[in-house]
Amino acid sequence: MNSIKEPATRSFMEMVERRNPAQPEFLQAVHEVAMAVIPFMEEHPEYVKANILERMIEAERIMIFRVPWVDDEGNYRVNRGYRVQMNSAIGPYKGGLRFHPNVTLSILKFLAFEQVFKNSLTTLPMGGGKGGADFDPKGKSDKEVMRFCQSYMTELFRHIGKDTDIPAGDIGVGAREIGYLFGQYKRLANQFNGILTGKGYAYGGSLIRPEATGYGLLYFVDEMLKKNGDSIKNKKVVISGSGNVAQYAIEKTIAFGGIPLTASDSDGFIYDPDGIDTEKLAYIMHLKNVERGRISAYAEKYGCPYYAGEKPWKIPCDVALPCAVQNELDEKDARLLVRNGCTLVAEGANMPTTPAAISYLQANGVLYAPGKASNAGGVAASGLEMSQNSLRLYWTREEVENRLKVIMHNIHEQCKKFGRKEDGTIDYVKGANIAGFVRVADAMLAEGHV
Ligand code: NDP
Repeated sequence: MNSIKEPATRSFMEMVERRNPAQPEFLQAVHEVAMAVIPFMEEHPEYVKANILERMIEAERIMIFRVPWVDDEGNYRVNRGYRVQMNSAIGPYKGGLRFHPNVTLSILKFLAFEQVFKNSLTTLPMGGGKGGADFDPKGKSDKEVMRFCQSYMTELFRHIGKDTDIPAGDIGVGAREIGYLFGQYKRLANQFNGILTGKGYAYGGSLIRPEATGYGLLYFVDEMLKKNGDSIKNKKVVISGSGNVAQYAIEKTIAFGGIPLTASDSDGFIYDPDGIDTEKLAYIMHLKNVERGRISAYAEKYGCPYYAGEKPWKIPCDVALPCAVQNELDEKDARLLVRNGCTLVAEGANMPTTPAAISYLQANGVLYAPGKASNAGGVAASGLEMSQNSLRLYWTREEVENRLKVIMHNIHEQCKKFGRKEDGTIDYVKGANIAGFVRVADAMLAEGHV
């Protein structure tokens, strides 16, 4: 953190580093917020006096637990499960579960911290949390995944509740895993309630929830471009990932008249110079969601280039949408994007752009939206799923999508309010962080020192 010029921010970050050693992702997420919020707090002494930021970076509660399970060969296996309950000032803890071999406490604390600000930006009553396990669903049978989910929920169920903490999906936790987790919760708690979001429609899920993160991302991009009298029509769009967020980002890009050129997974990326159309997207969805195959199969089927072990940022484009994983777009990638004429980067994933890459993009006039603003559509639709569950009603597709559009528009308005620069452009990092902070901070002030 040597680049921090302001003394107050530097000494704050030194304290955070001392108290959270060996947690680089968490420090990175706190650093971004601190850079935006500390100068703002200096003009609002009530936040400084109440030590709000120092309290915000401390999780209210963290559970770490053993998850034992038996594989198909009868071997005893064990993984580490987590739930980070970060902040409940404005509502019950809310945030997804990630099942991925790289999951660590640092990654889940960064995700939970981001979630606090993102949930606040939606204006819905949701606090922030995140959880998961270092379990890899890839290559496991459905029965193994079911046994793992049941064991994970057997511990988690005592810590969550529909008015306490409502988990959802994230990397490695999709419709299949949510179904198994919900089934086990229902059995243990003897209650049918909206304990998880991202549920199947047959048992309390919301229409548009699967689409919401990718759709919301494109609504946000549309707002960013509209502000400059522009649109995504005919723009070349480079997208990473081929999971839930990427799939629906591709779908909405096509619907808006943009041209999605790439998709990727952890093995490499495909580049389709003709653009991914609706039929090719249907193939990706089948490949990833049903066959659970690799994206390289797309290149074989459609005869287009596949780049093993590479990221898609070297493909010339107007718009780049990182939708896979944290820190997947670094300064070298940012330089390539700028050199090739990219003018907008909006995050579908959480923290996919490194701090050096963000600085480079902003210094070179690229419009850049942080995930806590541009990917908030997913948790917003989760909030709408919670409302429907409480009402014991289902809203129509149109009703949910219209609410989602309004929420993304309002997030953009909040970024404008707190991030407007003297030249009329918007600093989305500053705007999103301050807007997200203010609501949570005001609730914490009102609730006293708890
Ligand atoms: P999925 O599990 O559906 O998809 C993840 C995608 O990222 C897959 O294509 C996966 O490839 C790829 N990926 C995973 N690890 C790496 C890696 N190390 N390098 C390159 N690619 C990788 O997850 P989601 O689409 O749900 O989530 C994607 C991102 O969006 C995450 O950062 C998540 O936190 C964020 N997000 C998700 C929301 C949601 O509603 N789902 C809401 C807001 C943010 P492979 O198949 O090889 O693993």
